[in-house]
Amino acid sequence: MYDLSKKMFQRAKKVIPGGVNSPVRAYNNVGGTPLCISKAKGSHLWDIDGNEYIDYVCSWGPLILGHAHPEIIQAVKDASEKGTSFGANCEIEVKLAERVVDCVPSIEKVRMVNSGTEATMSAIRLARGYTGRSKIIKFEGCYHGHADSFLSKAGSGAMTFGIPGTPGVTKGTIEDTLDAVYNDLSNVKKLIDQNENNIAAIIVEPVAGNMGVILPQSGFLEGLRKLADLHDIVLIFDEVITGFRLERGGAQQYYNVKPDLTTLGKIIGGGLPVGAFGGAKHIMDYLAPDGPVYQAGTLSGNPIALSAGYATLLELEKDDFYKKLETKAVEFFNELRGNFERSGFPCTSHYVSSMAGFYFQGGPVTNYTEVARSDTKLFARYFRKLLDKGIYIAPSQFEAMFVSSAHTDSDLQKTLEIHKAVLKKM
Ligand code: PMP
Repeated sequence: MYDLSKKMFQRAKKVIPGGVNSPVRAYNNVGGTPLCISKAKGSHLWDIDGNEYIDYVCSWGPLILGHAHPEIIQAVKDASEKGTSFGANCEIEVKLAERVVDCVPSIEKVRMVNSGTEATMSAIRLARGYTGRSKIIKFEGCYHGHADSFLSKAGSGAMTFGIPGTPGVTKGTIEDTLDAVYNDLSNVKKLIDQNENNIAAIIVEPVAGNMGVILPQSGFLEGLRKLADLHDIVLIFDEVITGFRLERGGAQQYYNVKPDLTTLGKIIGGGLPVGAFGGAKHIMDYLAPDGPVYQAGTLSGNPIALSAGYATLLELEKDDFYKKLETKAVEFFNELRGNFERSGFPCTSHYVSSMAGFYFQGGPVTNYTEVARSDTKLFARYFRKLLDKGIYIAPSQFEAMFVSSAHTDSDLQKTLEIHKAVLKKM
C-alpha cells in the first residue's frame, strides 16, 4: 500500500537528515514510513502510491481553506507573472499590513517575515531591546519555533521526540529562558519575583497547540496581562496557530485579552512561507530603521507569498466564515469525543473553534507534565489504523487536529464511521 512512499523515503534518507525537512514529519514514534504526497485538493491528499486521505493536519494549520483553494491559486499565478521577488517595497505589503492592523485588536504596526520562527525570534529581540532586560518566561510544552531561546521543554517535535533541550544552544541562552507551568499564574509570579527587573518578555500560546490542544483556564491570560503590566514586562501572544484560526482577530479577540506584541504565521501566508510580528506602535518603532533593534530579511514581504496570504484573509471575511467553521468543527469533535466515550478507551479531549487535541488518558490535562502522561503506544496503533483507512492525522498526539472550510459533511461523516470502526478493532 505504501511501496513507493517507502522507496522515496529510502532515497530521501541518503541526502536529507532523517529523510525529512522538519522532524515532526517523521513517523519515528508511530512506526511505518512517512507518506510522500503527490497532490492535494480541498480536504483531500494523495500519496505517490495513489492512496487518498482525508486530511486533518492541513499543513500543520495554515490551510484553513483547505488545499489548492481556487482564489489562492489564482492569486499566486497572478502575482508570479509579475515577478517572484523585488527586494523593494510593493503594494501588497501595505495591503496585507493594513488588513492585519484592521483585524488583530492589539496590532498597530506589523512587520512581515518568512516563518513563525522568525516572527517569535524577532519579537523576543525587540522585547529585550525595548526593555533593556535579558530573560524571558515561556511555558513548558509551548512551541515557538526553533530559535535558540525557545528550545527548553518545548512542545511539538521536541516533545514528540523527547528532546527537552538541544545541543548547540549555549549555556547563556538557556539561563536566559525561564520555563513556567502553563495555566499556573503563581508559578509565573514566583519566576518574576526571583528575577526582579530582569524579565523582558512573557511569551505564551494563548491556546497551547503544540502539546495537543490545551485551553487557557479562566483568568490565566488575564492574569498574565496583569503581571506583565505590574512588572513592565512585554506580553507576547504567539498566535502562529491561533491567529486567524479562532477568529479574524485570533485568540486575543476570542478571549478578549490584549498582548503587547503578537506573532503570526501559518494562515497569514495561505500555505506559503510567511510570518509576521506586530503590536503597539511605541514598541514596534524600536525596530530598525526607525529604532535601534535590528531585524531584516531578503525575501521578507515576498509578493507571491503575501498575495496568497491576502487572498486567504479576504476569504475569511466572507459569509460568517468563523461561525460556520466553528459550528461544523465543534459538532464533529463532539461526535469524536462520543465515539471515544463509547469505546471504553480513556480519552481526554479539548477543542476550541476548529482545532482539537485528543489524549489517550483519563486526564485532567492542563499542562506539559499532565500531557506527557498520555499513552503514546496506544496512539501509535490508533494512528496507523486510521491512516490505513484513509484518515490522515498528525503522527503524534502532541499535535493539534484541524478542520478546514473545505471539509464537507460527507468527509466528516465518513471519518466518524471509520473512527468508530477503528476504535472497535483496537
Ligand atoms: N509558534 C507556534 C505557536 C507554532 O505552532 C510554530 C510552528 N508550528 C511556530 C511558532 C514556528 O513556526 P515555523 O514552523 O513557521 O517556523
